[in-house]
Parts: sequence; structure tokens; C-alpha cells
Amino acid sequence: MSTSKPTVIIVGSGAGGAMAAYQLTKDGHQVLLLEAGRDYDPKTETPMFRRNHQAPLMAAGTPDKDFGYFDATVDGGWQVPDEPYTSAEGSEFMWWRARMLGGRTNHWGRYALRFSEHDFKGKSRDGLGADWPFEYADIAPWYDKTEALVGVCGTNTGLDDMPPSPEGVLQPPPVARVPELLVAAAAKKLGITAVPMHRAVLTRPLDNRAACFYATPCGHGCAIGAAFQTTTSLLPMAVATGNLQIQTNAMVKRVDTNEKGQVTGVTYIDKKTGQEQQLVAPVVILAASACESARILLNSASSKHPNGLANSSGQVGKNLMDSTGANLSALVPSLQGRPRYNEDGHTANHLFIPWWGHQAQQRKELNFPRGYHFELGGRFSEPSAYVSGNLQGYGKALKQQVTENYGAVVSFALRGEMLPNEHCYMDIDPKVTDKWGIPVARFHWRWSEHEIKQVQHGLNTAKEILTLMGATVGELPKPEDAILKGGQIIHEVGTTRMGANPKESVTNQWGQTWDCPNLFVMDGGVFASNPHKNCTLTIMTLAMRNASWLSKQLNTGQLNAGAPKASQLAQGVI
Ligand SMILES: Cc1cc2nc3c(=O)[nH]c(=O)nc-3n(C[C@H](O)[C@H](O)[C@H](O)COP(=O)(O)OP(=O)(O)OC[C@H]3O[C@@H](n4cnc5c(N)ncnc54)[C@H](O)[C@@H]3O)c2cc1C
Ligand code: SF4
Repeated sequence: MSTSKPTVIIVGSGAGGAMAAYQLTKDGHQVLLLEAGRDYDPKTETPMFRRNHQAPLMAAGTPDKDFGYFDATVDGGWQVPDEPYTSAEGSEFMWWRARMLGGRTNHWGRYALRFSEHDFKGKSRDGLGADWPFEYADIAPWYDKTEALVGVCGTNTGLDDMPPSPEGVLQPPPVARVPELLVAAAAKKLGITAVPMHRAVLTRPLDNRAACFYATPCGHGCAIGAAFQTTTSLLPMAVATGNLQIQTNAMVKRVDTNEKGQVTGVTYIDKKTGQEQQLVAPVVILAASACESARILLNSASSKHPNGLANSSGQVGKNLMDSTGANLSALVPSLQGRPRYNEDGHTANHLFIPWWGHQAQQRKELNFPRGYHFELGGRFSEPSAYVSGNLQGYGKALKQQVTENYGAVVSFALRGEMLPNEHCYMDIDPKVTDKWGIPVARFHWRWSEHEIKQVQHGLNTAKEILTLMGATVGELPKPEDAILKGGQIIHEVGTTRMGANPKESVTNQWGQTWDCPNLFVMDGGVFASNPHKNCTLTIMTLAMRNASWLSKQLNTGQLNAGAPKASQLAQGVI
């Protein structure tokens, strides 16, 4: 490992930070990556082959292991020890964090769908929210490179919600499961199409990563590298260049600035000693996750940046968005008692339902503005602590029902686009600090009628499809009760949004902050909107594109030339 002075400090080793480190080190720049969590080696630590019955409570989630005993997250979850956050009165927001090398990529769902032109230019269509400061065509080649590097399985569907990848980029998807085929057949009667999900899972070997063998839950982590996580791909690749130093247990407290207000480096707490350390570097990239990067900026206020660093627009912490979420499931009688066979696959859904309503929305036939998709559930999966299917009784009779219903419950998980609104944002709690004395994030949250109406539409549609499959669904919950809590889908983005105008955004299209040319944000904070498609593929694609742009600026000495004015940046002078 090189011990040279870093040109770039990156904060965070998850999807955004690791991709930035990969690109910059490949381009020959010296990078120091600071990670608040501990080191993590998926090859030796992944409980890949552990079964639920080997754990207490059949591996059910507990407050210290929210997603089950064998979930790959270490030192994280809805609550992180020593690192509280708060919600303002009347608000409830859930914030999932992971404190480990690789961040949340060690256990994410790996759903990896491209955004489309629809998604980048929503405001131009319906006047709501914000457009992104570039066209789909600008980012398409970077999606191609990211998909090829990360390894994404799926197909080109020809649907207007799913832009195609070039021939040979996508790996073949696994075959659809029987319950998914039944959903597809029923949905087709309504003019709705189910297609292979795109997942960052290898179905063919890539580099030194093996292909999926369809046997172990991806949420446990994937020691063989088939399910993408930065700890088995981008980080080892970046280390192999000799240009990357990684420092774990380094909790960044603030970005440092000089008397002119220019960024000089960062201050972090060494969690092992509790000591504060200062580092200098020509460039700082924040990729600590959307809300954590915004927290660092707000905590980096100084006389030159009184409202927080890079916050002359007042937009840091604002525009907080998550995906909408709601679930509906039912027992499908025709699937009861079917012959047993292995239906494991790559754990998650093999088919999903992309958004089909763009044209109906253009014709103003729907009463909500943005789309959603359905992630489908239904298969012979490993028995867990919970059984579904409206069971009655106990003893032998109960067991018979469990056996009969095994693999016969089909579920629809809605994931939809929310619009930014003035009630959804984060700021700094003036009264609460974490273990290291760093002021914590405080969340404010309220869904708007757009999201509530969208969820109502989703519940109605899911019920229609399930009914066509022969299920008895019963009365639907009210959408305001069915919609999951803010943050619960773990797609929080938007708190340092990018834009074409420094008055309304925190960064330009390259993730470069308008106020400080040597300070970048490369996580989901920069999202101008939060399309219904899961955010991480786009976080990585933007990080690759923007780190590549930064590389070029460094190579030509542009960023060392001082701090150009925001107006120069807006005109693309540098
Ligand atoms: C269970 C689960 C399922 C998910 N499924 C999907 C999915 O299917 N598809 C999808 O697109 N997305 C999914 N997500 C979301 C996805 O994980 C995140 O969008 C993605 O990881 C965000 O990348 P990031 O780099 O911004 O943040 P992270 O991956 O969270 O990485 C940030 C890193 O920064 C570190 N850090 C934070 N603060 C500091 C600090 N002050 N100093 C130093 N380091 C710091 C953290 O410890 C962490 O390692 C899922 C998430 C979870 C938890
Ligand atoms: S199912 Fe495949 S991708 Fe998922 S953990 Fe197992 S081998 Fe890895």
C-alpha cells in the first residue's frame, strides 16, 4: 500500500465512496479513504451457509439485528450504538446505517435499475420537483460501464420505463419462478407487464468473482463475490492499483476550511483512541451517505460559511426523499400443496413489474404524478420465524396448514417515486450529540397527497392482480395507514441536490459544490429527484462519471487554481 500524501480524501466506503476510489486510483491519483466503521472481510466473516434454525428465534429480527440474526450488517441497523439521531415533534423517520467497510453494500437488495429520460426530467413534464442538470444520453454510457463493472443480470425489455443496455452488457437473468409466472399471466390481462428484475448479481463469472450458485440468502453477504458489494470488488480493485490507503474507525467530524473559506481537508475522530485528527488534501469527496454527508456539511459551519459548508443556497439537508413503500400479500389457492422442488434462485424476485403508466399520466388519466414498481414475492423459501397465510389453530392441524400453504403466498412490495416537499428535510439537533460530541441529525417528515394517492392506486392494482390469480384479498387498508414510514425503504436521497443553478442546488452536475470547487459529494445526496427505481446503481454511475471528470480536472491542474466563483462554474468555465 502506498504511503504517499493523498490528493483526494474520500469519506465513506459504500456504493458512492468505493466507486469514486476505484475510478480515481485507476486514473493514477493517490486516495485516502476514511471509513467510520470497522474493517470487514466478506471472505471470512460472511455467514453465508448458516440456516435460520441454527440461530435463536429462527433468526428473527431483534433490535440489535433488525433484519435477522445472520444479516451481513455489523455495527448498524435502525439504531447505531453511540450514534443517535432524532425526529422533530410530529415526524417519524427511520435511518438505516451500517458501520463497516463497504457500508450498506454488504447487504443491500442489489436491485439495480437504470433511471430513464422520464425520471431525469419529471419537472419538465409535470412542473413538480426538480429536473436533473443533464440528459439521459449524457449518463447512458456511464450506466453501460457501471453495469459491466458491477455485473447486473436482466434483459432489455423494450418498455418505456426501462432504457436498454448495449448488447452483451447485461448478464442473463435466472428463470422465472412459478408464482411469478402466475402474477405475469394475471397482470397481462390488465395490460401490465412483468419482466426479469435487474439485479447486481453475477450469473456468469466476472473478473475474480464467481457466478451465483442459487443457494444462500444474499442478505447474509456473498463471500464468493456473486452479489455485488464493494468489499469484494471495487475496494480490492482500487487497493490493487497501489494508490489507495484505507483507514477504518475514522469518524469524520467536519470538513476543514481556511480563513478564505477554502476547503483544506477534514477532521476525524479515531474511534479506537477517541483522539481528534486533522488531515489535509487538495480535494475532499463526501460519500458518507446522503444524510451523513449533509450532517458533516452542516457541522462544518465557519465565519465564511455561517449556514454550513457549501450551503449558500440553503439547500443542504432540504429535499430529503425516500421511496414510497407499501405491501400487499395473499394466499393463492392454486399454489397450495404443489410439488416440492428447489426454487431458491438468487434469493430476490426474478420477475418484477415496472411502471406502466407514463402515457396514462401524460393523458392526465391518473390522479398522482409519478410512478412506482412492484417487487414480487412468492416461492419455496427457507422457513423462518414467521409463517404467513392466515393460519388458525395449533398442533397437528396448524402444521398441516403450514405445509399446505408453503410457497403459496404471493406478495407485492410497492416502491414509488416521492416528490420533494417543504416538510421533509433534516437539520442539526441543537441539543443532542453523539458519543464523540458531534451534533446529530434531526429529521422532519410528512408524506404529501401525491404519495398517498399513488399508494392507493398501487394497493388497488395489486388487489386486482391477486384476485385475478384466484386469491381472496379482503378489505384494503387505508393508504395513509399502508404507506411505510419515511426512510423505511432505505432510499434516502436529495439532501445535497445537484442542479443547473447555484441558488437552488448544492452541487453542479459533477457533484462539485458550487461554493467550494475542491469539495465534492458523491452519494445519493446529489439526487435532484428520487425516481421509483432503487437508487444505488445511479449513485455508483454518478460517482464513476463524476470521479472521472474530477480526474481530468486534476490532470489539467484546474482544481488547484483557487476557488472560482459560482457564476464561472455555472457557465462551465472550469
Ligand atoms: C437492507 C437494504 C436493502 C437495500 N436494497 C437496495 C436495493 O435493492 N437497491 C438499491 O438501489 N438500494 C438498496 N438499498 C440502499 C443502498 O444500500 C444504499 O442506497 C447505498 O448503499 C448508498 O450508498 P452510499 O455510498 O451513499 O452509502 P453507504 O453504503 O451507507 O456507505 C456510506 C459509508 O460511509 C460511512 N460513514 C458514514 N458517516 C461517516 C463519517 N462521518 N465518517 C466516515 N465514514 C462515514 C458509513 O459507515 C458507510 O460505510 C438497500 C439498503 C438496505 C439497508
Ligand atoms: S444467492 Fe447467489 S448472489 Fe446471493 S449470496 Fe448466494 S451465491 Fe451470492
